[in-house]
Order: sequence, then structure tokens, then C-alpha cells
Amino acid sequence: MTLLDNPLSMERIKELLSQFGHQDFLPLQQEAIETLVNGQDLLLISPTGGGKSLVYQLSALRLEGVAVIVCPLLALMSQQVEKLKSMGVRAEFLNSTLNPGEQDDLAMGLRRKSIDLLFLSPEKLLQPSVMGILQHSAVAFVAIDEAHCIAQWGEGFRPEYGSLGKIREEFGAVPIVAMSGSADAKTQKQIINSLSLHEPKVLQHSFNRENIEINISQKKLAKKQLLNFILSQCYGESGIVYCRSRKKVETLSAWLNSQGIKSLFFHANISEQDKAANMKVFTEQSGVVMVATSAFGMGLDFNAVRYVVHMDLPNSLESYYQEIGRAGRDGLKAKALLLYGLQDVLTLLQFEMEVNLASVDDQARTYDFIRILEGRGCRRRLMLNYFGEKIEDCGNCDRCLAKKKEHNLTIAAQKFLSLLHKTKGTLTISVMIQILLGKTTKAVKEVRGQEMKLFAKGQEINEVMWKSLVRYLISHQYIAIYQFMPFQLLMLEKAKALLTSKTQVILQEDTYVPNHDVAPFEDYKKQLFSWHLECEGISFSSKQLDLIVRHQPKSFAAMSRLTGIAIHLIKKFEPPVYVASLD
Ligand code: ADP
Ligand code: ZN
Repeated sequence: MTLLDNPLSMERIKELLSQFGHQDFLPLQQEAIETLVNGQDLLLISPTGGGKSLVYQLSALRLEGVAVIVCPLLALMSQQVEKLKSMGVRAEFLNSTLNPGEQDDLAMGLRRKSIDLLFLSPEKLLQPSVMGILQHSAVAFVAIDEAHCIAQWGEGFRPEYGSLGKIREEFGAVPIVAMSGSADAKTQKQIINSLSLHEPKVLQHSFNRENIEINISQKKLAKKQLLNFILSQCYGESGIVYCRSRKKVETLSAWLNSQGIKSLFFHANISEQDKAANMKVFTEQSGVVMVATSAFGMGLDFNAVRYVVHMDLPNSLESYYQEIGRAGRDGLKAKALLLYGLQDVLTLLQFEMEVNLASVDDQARTYDFIRILEGRGCRRRLMLNYFGEKIEDCGNCDRCLAKKKEHNLTIAAQKFLSLLHKTKGTLTISVMIQILLGKTTKAVKEVRGQEMKLFAKGQEINEVMWKSLVRYLISHQYIAIYQFMPFQLLMLEKAKALLTSKTQVILQEDTYVPNHDVAPFEDYKKQLFSWHLECEGISFSSKQLDLIVRHQPKSFAAMSRLTGIAIHLIKKFEPPVYVASLD
């Protein structure tokens, strides 16, 4: 047999690649396929859009037997199977909606080896009848997509993922490939352990997504900030807006629609049909905003998401980073915006303590995350450092794009700690800040705050800055919340060094996405269109009009640059009201 006849030779695999319409492998694809066809276990960590599916698709087509692909979302599986079938690939999808007859056909298909890829959910795979069918079939390998679910709790959490260790027990030496869009060292270990991967090859792709502009802003009238952001920076583009609660997802989506921005919503509690329908509209129409919980986006096959906004804090940096990674998968410019404040940090900690009963590991992750948010300097550098990558300042985050002032808040921090000590940590943070600012609110009077020595002694910084400082003290574990009901704050060991000025607190000024009302786009559009109608002899294309609406140029020169139409032509026309201020 010559090398070329060997179905497992790289030449033959590359032939398949071109049949899939690709010229070259993306990073790690070739190494990953080589590992799999050599029968070795594999852990593949590559960002969303990194082309992980191709790894199991090509390997499956070259190996004997069926490749079993475990994937958490039905809608995505059916999408992928349809796509593969249309390319002539023998892929099938085993879901609970198959009737017994169809299940028999499938078992038969497997026995006759007429199926190359079988997609199913973890719960389906774990069903004894399904396990039974598969044990009597030749299985080439088992691929587990979104493998970080094994180590993750929260909205998108799938308890069945915890039981996938059975695969090794039931299938013995069949190679297993676990894939994930993001998994830090701890998560990787958990995946390897719970799947009993045997000396797996670990392939990890760089996490840097340079084309995504990372913006983290303090939250203040968040809905208006969101509207302002969409209208002024991403109008008409497709985007995802993440919120923590299902209710908020629904109300925010309705509100966006009322503001003239087409929006749909997605969370774990809507029917599979609605999920599929919303997914279809989102991926097929441009300019739709999907408001969603973290349940949305796993394996999303849509590359033109131009922005991802977080209205609340995700549980960890992994989740955050994976979620923003859904933007700009086509490699074109995209934006991420996270809005948060002290209250969000408290909510997250309370959720971990009281609702999620998070493990020590999870809590440590949460602290890592909030500490990175409060860190100084380039956002991306801080984040990638957490994933073990060293980079220079990125030039494409809010910190790099606008240098922010730094303030030494050591003395203010000492005042806060003294007040905490005097009041034994029983006052809420907002009351403490009011006391330091010298506000005689009802809550302050109730605790006779105006009689305290530190009353009005913290006026050198404003309330926003105080809140940032408290976030810093919490995230860096100078203080901790012992319990929320009744509220009890603790001073931790580390605080001593701060009280004696052995350590300093230096904060960088917060970034703010504006929340003022934007000139309603519909009005602007109307004026522009009626002006345009009257402009005899000049005709903008709808694309040019769209551009003008989005950018609202402030000068004729800017409008000319934007549209490519000569400035003297534009100037010939009577300017409409909105260009009254143009030069
Ligand atoms: P992931 O599962 O890692 O999120 P996908 O497998 O969905 O990523 O692939 C993301 C996109 O990249 C898809 O549109 C896919 O067609 C494309 N892609 C995959 N492999 C290649 C390749 N070798 N060359 C070009 N595009 C590719
Ligand atoms: Zn940066």
C-alpha cells in the first residue's frame, strides 16, 4: 500500500479539507486530527470559531466506525447535521424526538456501518438503551463538545456532563476528544480527571482575539448606556446582550423593541421550537439584537456578531471571555462592552454564597475575575495573563484607547477600614459611604452616623470613586462579606498592612459609556431622507444612507469621507435641520 492509499495519511485528509471548501488548516486543526487518527486521547482548547468541529468531522470521515459527537444543544446539532448531510456526509442526529421505528433504523445503520458521525446530547448518550446500541457498534472515537460544562455550574450547567466519566468505563480504549472554547488550567484538570483521559495530548490555542475591542464601563442607568452604545457605535449590526436573569432578558428585549431596535430573546426556559426559531432569525437577518442568558451561544454557528454586551457580571472570567468570543468570529472588527458596578459584585458574591453554594474553587475563580476587573492597565493583558499568556498592551481596549488617570486612595481606604472597625462591620456599604461623604440621609440618622468621628471626613472623593474603592478592597480581599442577611462585613488580615500604609491602593479612573439620550435615530433618519429626496442630482445608495444614519457626521467633510461623494456636491444642497451646524 502506498502512503497515498492510506486513508489516514495527511494527504488524504487534506483532500477532504478541500472538499469542505477550505484551503488550509486553521491553527491546531492538523495536530488535533493527527492525534485522533493515531488513537490518542485529546483535549483541544481553542476559542469559539477556532474550527473545532472540523477536527472531528475530518477524523470521522477517515476512521473506521462511527464517531460519536456529544453536544449540549439540540438546535445546534440539527443545524450541523443538516449542513453535513447537504455535503453528502453520512451524519445522523439521535434526539429524543425520534420515534422507536427511527431508533431501530439508526441501530441498523450503525450495525451496517453506514453512519460516520452520530450527534447526540449527553443525556441521550447516558441512556442505557443508547449505550447498548453503541457498544455493539464500532465506535471510532467519542468527541465531547463544550467540555468545560463538566466543571461549570450556573445557568448553562448540565448535570449530565458530570456523568460522562461513564464513557471510558463503557467504551474502554476508544479515544476520547474533549473540546472547549475556554478552560483554564483548573478546568482542564477537572475535564481530564472526570473523563479519565489517558495521557491526553493537550492542544491549546492562543486566547487572544485582537479584533475584539474590550470595553469595561461603570454601570449607571444601564439601559440608556446600552441604547447609547448600540445607536452610536453598532447601529444596524447583529449583537448579543447577556443578562443574568430570564425575566430581565425578556423585559430588556421588549424594551429594545420599543426603542426601535429589533430584538429577540433566548434563555433556558423557552421551548426548543422558539429557541430554534429565534436562532434562525438571528443568524439569517442582520441587525438583530439577541438578549439572552448564558444559555445562549454555545457553538453558535454565526460569524457576523458585531458586538456582545454584558448587562450583569458573568460568574467567571472564563464565561465572560467565552461569551465575548462570540463576537467577530469572521475576524472583522467587533466590540465587547461590560457594564457593572459595586452592586453587581455584591450580587455575584451573594449568588455564590447563598444560591450556588459555590465550591472553594469556584469562589476563587470569582475573586480572580473581580480582581482582574479592578486591575490597572490593559484589560486584555490582565485577562490573557490569567489564561497563562503574556502580551504587550493591546491598543484595543478602553484602557489602551483612552489613558485614564490613576489615584492613590490609600488614605481614603484607611478611613473606610477605620469606620468598619468602629461600627463592627454591621453597616451596609452604602450607609458607610454616606457617612464618609457627610450625608444626613434617613439611613445615616438611624445609626446616628452624623455623630461619628469620620462623618463627612471622606469628601475628597465622590460616591462613584468610593464605590470603586470598596470593590477594590473586596476583590483584593482586604475586606470580605461574611454574610448578607443581616449584613456583616469583615476586615481581613491583609488590611493591617494597608492601615499602616505598608501597602498602597492605587486605582485607575473608571470608564463610562454615556447614558444621555441620543437623538432618536428615527427622527434623524426622517430628516435625512426628506433632505435626500430634495437633493436633485445627488443620490446616496441605501448603504450610504445607512452609514450616515449610523455615524451622524458633524461636518460636510466627514459626510463626504463617509460616502465618498465629493464635498462640493454635498455642499450644493440646502442642509436640513440636523446639518444646520455643519461647517
Ligand atoms: P468552533 O466549533 O471551534 O467554535 P467551528 O467548527 O464552528 O468553530 O468553525 C468556525 C468557522 O470556521 C466555521 O464557519 C468553519 O466553516 C470555519 N472553518 C473551520 N475550519 C476552517 C479552515 N480550515 N479554513 C477556513 N475556515 C474554517
Ligand atoms: Zn489594552
